[in-house]
Amino acid sequence: MQFKDLKIMPDIIKALVKESYEIPTPIQEKAIPIILEGRDLLGCAQTGTGKTAAFAIPALQLLSSEKAPRTAKQNIRALVITPTRELALQIYESFNTYGQFTSLKSCVVFGGVSQKPQEEELKRGVDILVATPGRLLALMDQKLISIDHLKILILDEADRMLDMGFINDVKKIIAKAPLKKQTLFFSATMPPDIARLADTILKNPSKIEI
Ligand code: AMP
Repeated sequence: MQFKDLKIMPDIIKALVKESYEIPTPIQEKAIPIILEGRDLLGCAQTGTGKTAAFAIPALQLLSSEKAPRTAKQNIRALVITPTRELALQIYESFNTYGQFTSLKSCVVFGGVSQKPQEEELKRGVDILVATPGRLLALMDQKLISIDHLKILILDEADRMLDMGFINDVKKIIAKAPLKKQTLFFSATMPPDIARLADTILKNPSKIEI
């Protein structure tokens, strides 16, 4: 199985070739077709499995092939919520790498640093936002971020967000997103609280376990 067998668009294949990605990892082989079909996904997978590319590649492709281009500024169409600054930066880098030959713009926000530069970056327009929960909620409360036009919501490392006490923030963010959207939910483990959360937010999800 090669990436082109997964019907990945040429602009993304070009980036993967440049990065010397030859074959999809098991989670990529399973998740990419499901996500490209527009289905919700519940993925039980650890970091190191190629999970980031498993959601970033199809998300970039879905947004690239959308008819309506980015018009309004701050029109966030894909949102990734992740627990830590390190993960947020890694995921943001991944979107930039795989999307380098597309016209999509990514942005990253996290707490513990000044908000101003992040505000400036957001003003330039964003298709894909990668964020940690607290700073994202703060920016949303200040009306500096709107997720009214969100198409794809990705929750990364949901179990760690629970452990770190972010679950209420995550729930508040999800409550502000449009009902009609595609949701991708990733967690390394599925304790009851996480399984319940997944159950309330996912619609008829495909389930994969790596
Ligand atoms: P992740 O599980 O998303 O943290 O990815 C783990 C590492 O594997 C990252 O350094 C990726 O760049 C790399 N990687 C992901 N998918 C592939 C692939 N199909 N071929 C080669 N390297 C990959």
